Amino acid sequence: MPRTVAVVGGGISGLAACYHLARSPQAPKVVLLEASARVGGWLQSTRTEDGAVFEHGPRGIRPAGAVGRDTLHMVSELGLEGDILPVPGDHPASRNRFLYARGALHKLPSGLGGLLRPVPPFSRALFWSGLRDLLAPASTQPDETVHAFVCRRFGEEVADIAVDSLCRGVFAGDCRALSVRSCFPALFEAERHRRSVLLGLVLGRGKKPGAESPLSRRARAERWSQWSLRGGMESLAVALAAFLRQRGVELHCHAPLRCLRRGPGGGWQLALADGTVTADHVVSAIPAGALAEVLPAEAEPLARELRHIPAVAVAVVNLQYEGAKLPVTGFGHLVPSSEDSSLLGIVYDSVAFPEHNRSGATSLRLTVMLGGAWFTQSFGDPAAVAPSLLLRRAQDAVRAHLGLEAAPSHSIVKVHKACIPQYTLGHWRRTESISHYLTEQGLPLSLIGASYAGVSVNDCIASAKAAVSRLLGQPC
Ligand code: FAD
Repeated sequence: MPRTVAVVGGGISGLAACYHLARSPQAPKVVLLEASARVGGWLQSTRTEDGAVFEHGPRGIRPAGAVGRDTLHMVSELGLEGDILPVPGDHPASRNRFLYARGALHKLPSGLGGLLRPVPPFSRALFWSGLRDLLAPASTQPDETVHAFVCRRFGEEVADIAVDSLCRGVFAGDCRALSVRSCFPALFEAERHRRSVLLGLVLGRGKKPGAESPLSRRARAERWSQWSLRGGMESLAVALAAFLRQRGVELHCHAPLRCLRRGPGGGWQLALADGTVTADHVVSAIPAGALAEVLPAEAEPLARELRHIPAVAVAVVNLQYEGAKLPVTGFGHLVPSSEDSSLLGIVYDSVAFPEHNRSGATSLRLTVMLGGAWFTQSFGDPAAVAPSLLLRRAQDAVRAHLGLEAAPSHSIVKVHKACIPQYTLGHWRRTESISHYLTEQGLPLSLIGASYAGVSVNDCIASAKAAVSRLLGQPC
């Protein structure tokens, strides 16, 4: 059992690792090192004086599954139940999702009726795609791109329109480059174990445990599709930081790790700008590429694998309109790359979370997501792009897709460089080879965070919990 653990990176992954370390019965000394001025990483919310909340990173967390239950358990323990903003199953933001294709908005089909007849933008009833999946033979390939997998099982149209858009919505990525095994492990496993994706999803592989709490039971009873917090998602990071300080965790902001060296006693020396921290074990919660930069020269084989995990930039444009009405109501719409590769989609934030509107006003908040895997070809270098260009592009999209002609009353443009890791074809081989290297070399180093096994907030928290369990040799 290590006596001192240094956690590097104060995003949700690093904070969750500290949380699980700090609440273990024999908690080691925990030091968190964060490069920037604040903790939370991509959990970034702006709260304006008139009560509006604008999310620049994640805006909704799914409650489903073991990982969703675990996050809700943590939220309860942090005393945030009263701040939860749920989106119940019968809410329009749960039921209605749209695609913008061939110059028009289309509601994604739901219910049996929607599957039995052709619903634009699809030319054939989706029933036929489902039938194809039930009849198609299973592949034995170790991995495939998401596009190739869906083409083979459900047909080209579902891959080109629906799944192309989904990958842009979740990973800001290109389904022709992303790996089905790593991005959608449930689909990959379903084909492996049941020969059909639909059968595999329906029959499942048994319920994974996850920590139950009154909140997770409520989420199930009310069929929440997602939830947020009254103060925005960043308040989760703020609450975690307060919990950690109370438990004696040392939190250091403005503390970028410059270089990681093995110490004389088998532990680590972490070189910072103004000193050195020593630790028996390091939990790296920074992006794979950032870790590659600080590893010692002798760990080059590990650094080489880490450098092969790329990440894409996304421009997040928050817009607020006064007295405007949307032509449709729902979570938002995605845009397939064949329609406009530079525009990933538009989230109708006010529909899911009206509590985040400015007080006493009929304002409408939207978020336009731009770039992703197409950032450079669309806008050039993310470090050099003019915010005014992105704002204009976002406003044009809102005008064309939603018919909102007026100028927004408030706007915020953020360019997040390398913010979403891309699990490209063969990602599973890279993560396996990384694990082998760590074991073979006996390195007291755990790698967690969005770069490896899931980009959602739930996945990041789950990766932290699993790493701490392995490190302490006991379930968290
Ligand atoms: P990060 O948040 O990147 O944190 C890493 C931290 O390490 C940062 O604070 C950084 O400053 C620090 N750091 C880097 N280098 C060093 C160093 N050398 N020394 C010390 N510190 C260092 N997920 C959802 O579930 N739902 C959503 O709706 C959703 N929407 C998203 C929208 C956007 C625009 C983005 C970008 C992501 C979204 N995600 C969403 C994904 C999710 O938010 C992220 O995957 C997750 O927050 C990543 O957390 P992390 O802690 O692994 O990494």
